[in-house]
Amino acid sequence: MAGPPPSLTSSRFTGLGRPCVLVMGELLMDTTCCFDEKTSPTGQQSLDWQNARRRLMKGAFAALAGSLFAPTALARAGERDFWSLPRHLWLRRHTSNGVEEFKGVYFANGQLLMEPYVQICRLMRDVREDAAVQMSPVLLDILCGLQGIARVQGVDEPLITTSGHRSRRTNSRIEGAARNSLHVQGRAWDGRMPGMSSSGMAEAAKYLQGGGVGLYVQREFVHIDDGRLRSWTGR
Ligand SMILES: [Zn+2]
Repeated sequence: MAGPPPSLTSSRFTGLGRPCVLVMGELLMDTTCCFDEKTSPTGQQSLDWQNARRRLMKGAFAALAGSLFAPTALARAGERDFWSLPRHLWLRRHTSNGVEEFKGVYFANGQLLMEPYVQICRLMRDVREDAAVQMSPVLLDILCGLQGIARVQGVDEPLITTSGHRSRRTNSRIEGAARNSLHVQGRAWDGRMPGMSSSGMAEAAKYLQGGGVGLYVQREFVHIDDGRLRSWTGR
């Protein structure tokens, strides 16, 4: 890691629909401030997440059993149990402070692990405004599934994050960004992965059925979110 990321306490951390001041110690202890399916701010949102997670798992099992990805390689890797194993992510981000990275388990034994989760949220912050929000755990699962698929294809590389959360102000400055972008709600990710084409990533993400998938061919990145199942191609 080149250059330390700014401290957690220097950024604002807002829960989904439930703003709170981010202080690392408080955040880790105050579970009402942290997302999980039982304490999520609104029942509706919780329901959406549960549906999305169910959908994602169904898609993942289809992907793992299906013909699109080499079944022998998957069987070898024991991917049938993919979602019952601890969930890993390897994320990298290039910012003006240098390279930031997260590599580790964020979910195990049926629970989101708060410390790694906060590190991930921090990495996925709006860098322009230095604002972090609670990122959707389903979005993280989609990325985890995507990385799992890449791994069984022999690609063990970090997901290069180019955009995670965006404040409304940052979002409004981005040309072509939807006004109600899921980035604003911490439910979308943009990026790429070395060793895997953007179209390959989009194909894998669509197969997981976790939400929306946008493929930007010329700029070589994919947009992934936990919203409605839909896909599109942009420039
Ligand atoms: Zn996006």
